[in-house]
This record gives sequence, structure tokens and C-alpha cells, in this order.
Amino acid sequence: MAKKQTAGRDNLGRLAPKFAELNDDVLFGEVWAREKELSPRDRSMITIAALFSAGLYPQLKAHLAIGKDHGVTKQEAVELVTHLAFYCGWPKAWSTFPLIQEVYGDEESELDGVPSNLSAFPVGEKNPYGQYFIGQSYLAPLSTEQVPVFNVTFEPGCRNNWHIHHASEGGGQMLICVSGRGWYQEWGKEARELHPGDVVNIPEGVKHWHGAAADSWFQHLAIEVPGKDGRADWLEPVDDEQYEKLK
Ligand code: MN
Repeated sequence: MAKKQTAGRDNLGRLAPKFAELNDDVLFGEVWAREKELSPRDRSMITIAALFSAGLYPQLKAHLAIGKDHGVTKQEAVELVTHLAFYCGWPKAWSTFPLIQEVYGDEESELDGVPSNLSAFPVGEKNPYGQYFIGQSYLAPLSTEQVPVFNVTFEPGCRNNWHIHHASEGGGQMLICVSGRGWYQEWGKEARELHPGDVVNIPEGVKHWHGAAADSWFQHLAIEVPGKDGRADWLEPVDDEQYEKLK
């Protein structure tokens, strides 16, 4: 969602009330709000490029902050400026990096390096079950009532260990792929390549693993199929040699 802006009225409401109204209600209230036509993140990137090109640094800094709110990561902002330096001028990049530093600060976000546009679902935080995964994964609870649903994000090459979803009645797991390319494999069977829109039904008691392709981020929703005494048994990691054969 585009963040509601009151900067016009906050800064210019007394001096230039009409300008403030146009800024807050028309530019931000109507144009920026057309999210189906261009996402707030895309509008932020375009606006940053325009202000960079014009060398309007105070405005640029304000829009770097708005871009951050719209999901532009620190790494993406740095990449954007590196790219624009070739089109708009090297010194402008030198003037802009300190603004990025001020806006984003030194703190390395937990999610630094995770592309912000994988899907509409949140990435959450580093997976607390990371000891059962090779590579970095992230977990976001989407629903913790009725049917539990989690969004799982895998960095390229990341996959979970072989495991089994056990239950004394019902149980099992469903995966709904939402972004990137990944794999699902049941013990003794060929691996199945996964793409957004694919659905995997994992029966209770079946040994399996799931994760990203070696060269792609991957995201799936994991749905716990309701059952009695549900638990996961985590087993050995997927063999590197076996994984590397998957293309
Ligand atoms: Mn599973």
C-alpha cells in the first residue's frame, strides 16, 4: 500500500495551502494511489530516478525514505544509484550514497538480500527451524487459527532435510507454490520441479524434502493438514551430489 502522505500540509499548509492540498490529496491521494496501474514500489523507484537525475537532494532523501516504506531494500537502492550513475552523472552517485546511508542506517536488516518482490506474501523472519535446512530460509505465519498456513522462502540452493509429517489420524502437508522455481521429492521417487501455481499433496508418513532450485529463489505456502498428534520427524540432509544433479 502506498503510504498516506501529509508532508504538504505538515510543511506548507500555512504558506501554500493549495499546493499542500494538491500534494497530499491529488499527487499522493490519487496518482500514487493508482496501485493497480503501477505499484508504490515501482513509483518510488521511478521518482527516485527522476529526482536523482535532477540533483534535487532534499527531495531525493525524502523519496528514498518513502521507497524504503514501499519495500525498496538498501541493496536495491544502492544498485539503483550505481545504475543511474552511468546515465545521470558519477558525482550524483557520490552525493546520493550518503543519503541512502542516512535513510537505511548501518543496521543490517534480517531480510537484507531477500528480493522484495517475490510475491504478495510476507517473508517473515529467519526460519527458527533452520537447523533442519541447508542454506537460509525464512518463515512467515499467514494463519495460526483454523488451518495453519505459513509462507516459506528459500534462497537459491536452500532445501530442507528429508522429513516426515506424522499424525495418528489425518495429517500430512500441502504446498502451494507462489514464486520462483523449486523441487519436491519423495523417497525412492524422481524429484518434481515446482513453479508458481503448482500444488503438492504430501500424505502423512511419506518421507520427502522440498526447497529451491540451485539458481532460483523459491517460495511456497505450507499448509498443515489438520490431524491428531501431528508432528514432523526431521531426518538426514539431502545429499549434495543428488541435489546438484537436479537442473
Ligand atoms: Mn514437508
